[in-house]
Amino acid sequence: RKGIVAIVGRANVGKSTIFNRIVGERVSIVEDIPGVTRDRIYANASWLTREFRLIDTGGIELANASFTEQIKMQAQIAIEEADVIIFVVSGRESVTREDEFVARMLQKSNKPIILAVNKIDDQAFKDSIYDFYSLGIGDPIAVSGSHGIGIGDILDEIVQLL
Ligand code: GDP
Ligand code: MG
Repeated sequence: RKGIVAIVGRANVGKSTIFNRIVGERVSIVEDIPGVTRDRIYANASWLTREFRLIDTGGIELANASFTEQIKMQAQIAIEEADVIIFVVSGRESVTREDEFVARMLQKSNKPIILAVNKIDDQAFKDSIYDFYSLGIGDPIAVSGSHGIGIGDILDEIVQLL
């Protein structure tokens, strides 16, 4: 069976941007309603000779749920379904309570976790990744979803862990 890789993290850290980078240019799916596009949640992806299925848990939403319930459900899906988890945080901000909440949930699982510090568009900001060691998830990897920096490093990690 194809390995499953799930992307998790609080809102606006860049999960969908990283998802689209990994998947390629098949950026969005078109809904039945004209003019409405939605982020896609599942896609097949590959790196080197390895194929896997990618899930953007941020696109899976509960109606009428609080942010906490939402992220809890998304992290739970990642823990249950994935073989490898990509935990995305924003290098433009310091560690938030929500990042810590997600980290605590993920730590209870025995799944391998890749910690991606996104929005490091410029090497000048690279030192901000060190703050994220405090999450206790391991070595942070600097990435820029919008500039396509560090995506190859994430993919190398994925294929090693699958
Ligand atoms: P999600 O809510 O985690 O799926 O985040 P999105 O992928 O929708 O991105 C949220 C916002 O951050 C959007 O305005 C993106 O354009 C922006 N963003 C995503 N990745 C980067 C990045 O690497 N650098 C910068 N500067 N902005 C980014
Ligand atoms: Mg998203």
